[in-house]
Amino acid sequence: MSTVVGTAIGERGKITRGHLDLGEYPDGAIRSPVVIATGAEPGPVLWLQACIHGPEVVGPLAIQRFLKTVDLGQLKGTVACLMLANPLGFRGYNRLTPQDGYNLNRVFPGDAEGHYSYQLAHRLLEVSLATGDAMLDLHSGGDLTITCHYTLFHNDGSPQGAVSERLAYASGAPNIWNSLEPSLAGAHFAAYTKRGKPALIVESGGGARVTEEDIARLTQAVFGVAQALDMLPGEPPKRDRYRLGADAIHMKATRGGLFLPFVAPGDDVVRGQHIADIVDLYGDVVQAVHCPVERAWVGSIRRPHMPIYNGDQVFELVGTREA
Ligand SMILES: [Zn+2]
Repeated sequence: MSTVVGTAIGERGKITRGHLDLGEYPDGAIRSPVVIATGAEPGPVLWLQACIHGPEVVGPLAIQRFLKTVDLGQLKGTVACLMLANPLGFRGYNRLTPQDGYNLNRVFPGDAEGHYSYQLAHRLLEVSLATGDAMLDLHSGGDLTITCHYTLFHNDGSPQGAVSERLAYASGAPNIWNSLEPSLAGAHFAAYTKRGKPALIVESGGGARVTEEDIARLTQAVFGVAQALDMLPGEPPKRDRYRLGADAIHMKATRGGLFLPFVAPGDDVVRGQHIADIVDLYGDVVQAVHCPVERAWVGSIRRPHMPIYNGDQVFELVGTREA
């Protein structure tokens, strides 16, 4: 049976296109492009999506590269690609949904009668669960932040949580983070896993630019996860060493000014380390930022030299766990 997403209909051995309606403007449909890659042989369906945060355009670029390079003759099963999980965020180049100001990836499982973002979350969850046997959600830091290369999953001890963890290692990321944090309980990947199917987020890059390395990493994650699901031949990437994470903290500035970090995404940091200054327009340091936890790695960082308000997030520090 072929996979159908909105107007896109899968066809054995072909790449087909269409669109999925995800809400309504006052004058018509809010919709996302959909591409379905159907292999020569039947197999699982991987739900692949991008731009749940509007500016995170590494995602659609990586999906495009996957679709241009995958050998459908070798593919067993289907990759269903939703190019824009949040079309309004994409058009507004906004991490939040411009219509109602919510972070879409914090309001799952959503509500069919709630605010726009809640209705969208509800629809995304139902369509992705009805279509996919597993989900891969592509992220980056977008415009305001830069993330290191990491994979997030929700292993709560369930069988699908364990599969999520196995797929995380296949994604090729050197940093593997089992996030059971309450702050991510409303994320799509967590809701998907709680509903019985494995899911991952893979992150790389941001800071209002896209590098070749970021596109290559997210593309590799698609191939690696497909290999781990036995949808493509070959072994997924394997590293000698992984850095594990948990219990992230999100540090906010307490002063306004210009942000001058001394560490980069992915760096290891220890308690007391001087990791950034915030300087005022006279060049005086108004806040020296120090690492408040014993051992962590920099999951994401505010784009260097950005003007910031007090209260803006400047660091995501992920607690280090031994592999
Ligand atoms: Zn994101």
